Amino acid sequence: MQFQSIRNFINLKDVIISNVEHFDSHSEISLSMPVRPHKCPACGTLTKSIHDYRTQKIKDIPWLNKPLYLIYRKRRYNCRKCNKKFYEQVDFIGKYQRMTKRLIMAVVDRLRSNSSMCSVADDFSLSPCTITRIFDYLSYSLKELPTVLSIDEFKGTTDKGKYHCILAGTHLVPKSLDSLKGLPQDIWLASLKSLNNLE
Ligand SMILES: [Zn+2]
Repeated sequence: MQFQSIRNFINLKDVIISNVEHFDSHSEISLSMPVRPHKCPACGTLTKSIHDYRTQKIKDIPWLNKPLYLIYRKRRYNCRKCNKKFYEQVDFIGKYQRMTKRLIMAVVDRLRSNSSMCSVADDFSLSPCTITRIFDYLSYSLKELPTVLSIDEFKGTTDKGKYHCILAGTHLVPKSLDSLKGLPQDIWLASLKSLNNLE
């Protein structure tokens, strides 16, 4: 329980903190999850049988103005019925397994407030390429074209090409169109093609 106050501070539900280290350049919090029954993804049997562990370094939102890494001891369970091995489920890591979901959401929120990609990258100690890749892991739900669609280009600084494109709406545009802003070209083209009635 010695790290209880830190657990409350970083607000990650149920984690067990085993160590906290502060370095000049960053901080690290070592953690794991409690053993709990997991449903086998192959046969559905509940199991608490542990197969092995793997350590992952996951970037989280900055802590005390320095980058924070979670040193996560990730557990793999074994199904005793069908012998399937599978990793435990945690809710704070997204599909992009090297960042927490809340870091991804913090980056997206900042980009929505019209911050430049480079300034957001600086603030979160991420590369502009990483910021761009974050969009690859988000899903989009826009199904219909808005009444008015504005398309503009600007000179960019990422490895995705010299020029970038922004799709933006007017007051007539559904709110969900915001999610298309600043997407890599292949993604927004795919998004446009998926819309109904596009000619
Ligand atoms: Zn099984």
